[in-house]
Amino acid sequence: MDTQLKQKQVYDYVVVGGGTAGSIVAARLAEDLNINVCLVEAEPTDDGNAEVLALRIWLHLLGTELDYDYAIEKQLRGNSLIRHSRGRVLGGCSSHNSCIAFRAPDYDMDCWEQAGCEGWSARGTKKYFDKVFEQVYIEKAAAIHPLSAAFLEAAQQAGFDRVSFNRDGGLLEGVGIFHLNAKDGIRQSSSQAYIHAALKPAKNLTVLTNTVVNKILLDEHATAYAVEAHGMVIVARREIVLSCGTFDTPKLLLLSGIGSGEQLRAMGITVHVELAGVGEHLIDHPEGVINWEAKQAVSGETTQYWEVGLFAKVLPDAPIPDLMFHFGLVPFDWNTLPLGYPTATHGFAMTPNIPRAKSEGVVRLRSANPKDAPLIDFRYFTDAEGYDEKIMLEGVKLARRIAGQSAFKPWIKKELAPGIEVQDDEELSEYARRTANTVYHPAGTCRMGDLREPLTVVDAQLRVKGIHRLRVADASIFPTMVSVNPCMTCMMIGEKCADLLKGL
Ligand SMILES: Cc1cc2nc3c(=O)[nH]c(=O)nc-3n(C[C@H](O)[C@H](O)[C@H](O)COP(=O)(O)OP(=O)(O)OC[C@H]3O[C@@H](n4cnc5c(N)ncnc54)[C@H](O)[C@@H]3O)c2cc1C
Repeated sequence: MDTQLKQKQVYDYVVVGGGTAGSIVAARLAEDLNINVCLVEAEPTDDGNAEVLALRIWLHLLGTELDYDYAIEKQLRGNSLIRHSRGRVLGGCSSHNSCIAFRAPDYDMDCWEQAGCEGWSARGTKKYFDKVFEQVYIEKAAAIHPLSAAFLEAAQQAGFDRVSFNRDGGLLEGVGIFHLNAKDGIRQSSSQAYIHAALKPAKNLTVLTNTVVNKILLDEHATAYAVEAHGMVIVARREIVLSCGTFDTPKLLLLSGIGSGEQLRAMGITVHVELAGVGEHLIDHPEGVINWEAKQAVSGETTQYWEVGLFAKVLPDAPIPDLMFHFGLVPFDWNTLPLGYPTATHGFAMTPNIPRAKSEGVVRLRSANPKDAPLIDFRYFTDAEGYDEKIMLEGVKLARRIAGQSAFKPWIKKELAPGIEVQDDEELSEYARRTANTVYHPAGTCRMGDLREPLTVVDAQLRVKGIHRLRVADASIFPTMVSVNPCMTCMMIGEKCADLLKGL
């Protein structure tokens, strides 16, 4: 369609994707009343939607119309049936996640700076984590379920220290209660903590919901000047920020002719800027599961069913814990049931995950049609050293060791999956890989880094390589994975991006 015929709107800044990071970029920019900002979100508002806001029932949102629920490509060594959940509502994944709130450990942030991202070290990002933790209410001492308390005690019987999470600086081995970005059971998503509060006073912030952006428009000097969203051209006088998340930011770049020339030509898309890294370097926290049936009823009196967790070192020389557990008050049977493992009405799960997994995958276009979901291939458990498989196997064994402690005696009826008869390392590993899930932390597909590296997509100012006035702010910029749940890190990216745009 001729862009001249379309409805045109003009703002100083256009932020595409009102999710975890994007909402914060827009809200912070709009604090300057001399500029106007448009936040363009593909999906509906979360405001007043009790289903979204009530944290306890977050699991019920998965697979509904409020979830992109992406399928993944067939996995050679992992589970091909994994569905990758993504929040389909204002606030993005922060509007449907389990609100476990972690600052990224210093070690992880220093790795970002070492990866060519100047200003993103622990020191450089502390101010922005602080801003997030000031703006977003964090529940630090939620009462926990007696079964979660049994896990804490059993882990201590197995030799782990009881620790407080989010201490300054480091990430310790040990077991503890999660902090939650929630208040009185209501999630404190980016939209709740930043947008709805900002909208009332800020007449200079426009939030367009139910508006899918399909293309970024570039002029002949590779300057991004507008985006196209059904029937509309939204012009940015100053800059455009993409915050559509790890799957949809690379998809939008590729649909706009920004990416690998070879891939784009194969899809019949005109190449505007060759940028080989778009969609490469897909990283995640792969997660295994062991389920038990409980001897007694497990009540539903819980904050969000996953209240406590553990960090451990599998490899003695690991600089930071290389294994994490979530403990769940339900059997997490989504990936075990389809393979025929039994489940139970009352039970629980331990889900060991790999904080710094080494396998890398890709995101590609499935076609040139914006309506098609992106092609997502994680290539789980394919790293050459077999590191991911080793950590996962040790995680499954450790879970059994903890379950074997006396604190669990009143609770355990039997192991449901894989079942106690599975003892051999090879069989355990096969089970763990085939029933693996994700902790829903995909990242890295528009990697930030040194512009001399061929696969870098954005520089340390978040500017897209080879394009003027276009930045990315979301989980896709992660140069390396953080060892903890990443939502607060995405919020930190939103805070820092706003300052970078302001030239601070
Ligand atoms: C089920 C689940 C549970 C999780 N639990 C936790 C947890 O407890 N703690 C934690 O730290 N992390 C958790 N995470 C991970 C964390 O929530 C995400 O890593 C983080 O929120 C991602 O933020 P983002 O800004 O990259 O993307 P998102 O928050 O996904 O934002 C992307 C936004 O862009 C919009 N969008 C996409 N395409 C377009 C388009 N073309 N045009 C306009 N808008 C578009 C989307 O609708 C969405 O609103 C969880 C994730 C999931 C899915």
